Amino acid sequence: MIVLSLSCKKCDNEFEGWFSSHQSCEKQIKKGMVECTICNSKKIEKSLSKPNVAVHKGKSTSQNEASKILRSKLKELKTFVKDNCEYVGDQFPYEARRIHYDKLNKPIYGHATKKEADELKEEGIETTSIPWIKEEN
Ligand SMILES: [Zn+2]
Repeated sequence: MIVLSLSCKKCDNEFEGWFSSHQSCEKQIKKGMVECTICNSKKIEKSLSKPNVAVHKGKSTSQNEASKILRSKLKELKTFVKDNCEYVGDQFPYEARRIHYDKLNKPIYGHATKKEADELKEEGIETTSIPWIKEEN
């Protein structure tokens, strides 16, 4: 669903309408299915004064919001990890063992396969995997 700004040709009232598409909006205006909220005139035109906002109905709006928030949190987490941990890349399992057995206090981050992470866990080395989101351009 999209929200479109409409304006009344008769009284210049501006209001918003929900439509499935621009085409369906135009169709409904032509058919006289859209009325001015003030004077009930059917002489309505799409107003371009406001930008059109694309939104989803009901549940998906909150899902969208949630994923937006999640993304920004993951971004924060990523920045935190980058700022506070040393990047060891594919050496992660090796470095994690070294830290564990040599009792080093060195936070690291890097890559490990699921199998490598499982092996580390079996040895009592806890690792956490976080979704590594791509930077937006
Ligand atoms: Zn009107």
